[in-house]
Amino acid sequence: MMKETSQVKPNPFESATQQLRNAAGYLKLDEDTFQILSAPKRQLIVSLPVRMDNGSVRVFTGYRVQYNDARGPFKGGIRYHPGVTLDEVKALSAWMTWKTSVADIPYGGAKGGIICDPKHMSQPELERLTRRYAAAIAPFIGPYKDIPAPDVYTNAQTMAWILDTYSALEGHMSPGVVTGKPVPLGGSLGRDKATGRGAVFCTIEAAKVNKIDLKKATFAVEGFGNAGSNYAEILQGYGPRLMGASDSQGAITSKTPIDASKLIAYKERTGSVVGFPGSQKASERELLQMDVDVLSPAALENTILPEIAKGVKAKIVTECANGPTTPEADKILHANKVFVIPDILANSGGVIVSYLEWVQNLERIGWTETEVNDMLKKKITGAFGDVHAASLKHGTDMRTAAMIVAVGRVADAVRTLGIFP
Ligand code: GLU
Repeated sequence: MMKETSQVKPNPFESATQQLRNAAGYLKLDEDTFQILSAPKRQLIVSLPVRMDNGSVRVFTGYRVQYNDARGPFKGGIRYHPGVTLDEVKALSAWMTWKTSVADIPYGGAKGGIICDPKHMSQPELERLTRRYAAAIAPFIGPYKDIPAPDVYTNAQTMAWILDTYSALEGHMSPGVVTGKPVPLGGSLGRDKATGRGAVFCTIEAAKVNKIDLKKATFAVEGFGNAGSNYAEILQGYGPRLMGASDSQGAITSKTPIDASKLIAYKERTGSVVGFPGSQKASERELLQMDVDVLSPAALENTILPEIAKGVKAKIVTECANGPTTPEADKILHANKVFVIPDILANSGGVIVSYLEWVQNLERIGWTETEVNDMLKKKITGAFGDVHAASLKHGTDMRTAAMIVAVGRVADAVRTLGIFP
């Protein structure tokens, strides 16, 4: 195994497996079950020829990894990014398995990804790529098999193209095949902001157990995308003041509070948070080590490396991203008494509302946004309570506790199912 240093970013699947092994130790998991839980059930690699706008053909590589479905159909997003690798998608599919389990919704875990740079592709190119990918994975997805959703650099429009392609191949409209789709196609009210909103509910619970007064608190967000920007806008409504933010173009900090809604509008207009009036340009490290009460990494994996972790001053780290903290960095944060709300709990609001969307599709019913937000709050606050209770019972940090709860439930399901044939 590669040794983790501050320079080397660990392989995300090795990190995920290390987290599983740690939880398995606490659960005294038998070796057979551990082996089953350590390997994805199915890994698809597809080659996707796409006609580009200039007439040439490019062949993209796409993945869909279905990790475990003992508790229900596979579930998880699709990511478009130049840095996508099979090991990253495998890790993300494992984290989805633990996420749906810790949230206690009847799903397994999966993830998809395409190696591409959506920022340098036109809408028609993205549509052709998406439809070709949907056709390639169509035999393996479906409302009762595997239900994709948005992730990094995919959105409701991407889901609409997948829904349309899948439904055309099936011969009938099948809205339950994807979640996070546009509302007129059966998407749920509240789904677009659900990841950020869920992370806010977790932050409120974390502040209570750590006796932090949110009215006086400050925070910073690394990765001002869908999850991060909604988190910031909703959290500031409860009192905390935003002091710094970043995106792929750079980071900013400010001596006076930043209005998150204005920053969202500024980014929509200019394409980045950089240059926001009244802010100073900062490095990623300066942002992550700001003297704030709450820090939210909300972009990609491997953001909080050991060297960064040593200087984190925040009391609470809310992981809106998947896998932002490496296992070594985790130990440092724990030793420094930083309260980490782990990704599989903190960002589970997205898949919780995906579940609510899917139930509405299958039952042909429609809930109001208030109903959806209330159910999200109840579900994620309950999950926080389960994880916090486990952390007190076992004397562990919150990530280990979340994994103990999540892996314990999946292991029960796997053992009870038995082995076919
Ligand atoms: N991509 C999101 C995640 O990582 C949402 C998944 C879903 O809704 O299925 O949790």
